[in-house]
Amino acid sequence: MKTVYVRDIPIGNNHPIVIQSMTNTKTKDISATIQQINELVTAGSQIVRLAIADMEDAESIKEIKKQVSVPLVADIHFDYRLALKAIENGIDKLRLNPGNIKDKKQITEVVLACKEKKIPIRIGINGGSLNKEIYEKYGHTAQALIESANEHIKILEELDFHDIIISLKDTDIDITLEANRLASSSFNYPLHIGLTEAGTICSGTVRSSYVLGTLLKEKIGNTIRVSLTANPTEEIKVVKEILKMTGNYSSPTIISCPTCGRTDYNMLELINKLEPMISNLNYPLKVAIMGCVVNGPGEAKDADIGIAGGKNQVILFKKGQIVKTIKEENIINEFMKEIQTLIDEKNQE
Ligand code: SF4
Repeated sequence: MKTVYVRDIPIGNNHPIVIQSMTNTKTKDISATIQQINELVTAGSQIVRLAIADMEDAESIKEIKKQVSVPLVADIHFDYRLALKAIENGIDKLRLNPGNIKDKKQITEVVLACKEKKIPIRIGINGGSLNKEIYEKYGHTAQALIESANEHIKILEELDFHDIIISLKDTDIDITLEANRLASSSFNYPLHIGLTEAGTICSGTVRSSYVLGTLLKEKIGNTIRVSLTANPTEEIKVVKEILKMTGNYSSPTIISCPTCGRTDYNMLELINKLEPMISNLNYPLKVAIMGCVVNGPGEAKDADIGIAGGKNQVILFKKGQIVKTIKEENIINEFMKEIQTLIDEKNQE
């Protein structure tokens, strides 16, 4: 299978399943969109999709990109000029349905612009928006989704474009399962899995867990989105549970002491800030946050990495050994950087 990069995030093969979500703000409402992107990233979304409904949305990408660092996907239907504007403004991936853009010249222009900037395209096939000929020939079936994907893949491949991700979504759980099984045995591209219009928090969670859990157990799916009629951060919680259930996600364990009279800093406030960031790291590390320098490193010598507090600074330790001190104002940034470096090192072992 081809590995496709969304900026520096690899999708496909044995790479970890990538968590995605989508904002439900008007993209042209830049501050609301940025706020929601930040909430999604804090919750654990690694890629965020934005609806690009008109030129004002496409223009807004420029400002949004300046203020967030997570890779962004533009969701575009029908108008190729929106795709071109999104590319010009620095979008990291396009989700489109080439069948919606009929003119060959227009498709070519979009695909060549993506190629030049190394922007991948997700061909997003939706059971509800199949073209008339395919629907008449195959009806509402998994085969119809596959044929539609085939048609679109061909359009891109003829233009020598191969940074393709495919999604085949339907509201019917059996059709979604069958289509994705067929796709994984027929296509050489990564699959984005999801169930479309899955429903409310309760019904959508149950339906998505069944379908996506089944696919992941069969090793099908390289990137995932759960769609719920709810605040999108809820989607991330459900995704993580599905990934954990199927053995695809392991987050660090946080060890912390209860604090005592030796504690000289506001550890509770710090741990409340660090916990959501650390929990988002998809690696089974032991991370310690301890109350004092005297006993902290020793009491947490099992931890792969940890900090222990002193006045106006903390010490950083690895397996009980003190490595360095970090000034109070840099604790969060430096500690998160050190944890990430350790994960990168362990991934390379
Ligand atoms: S690590 Fe230090 S602050 Fe925490 S409980 Fe032990 S002695 Fe107290």
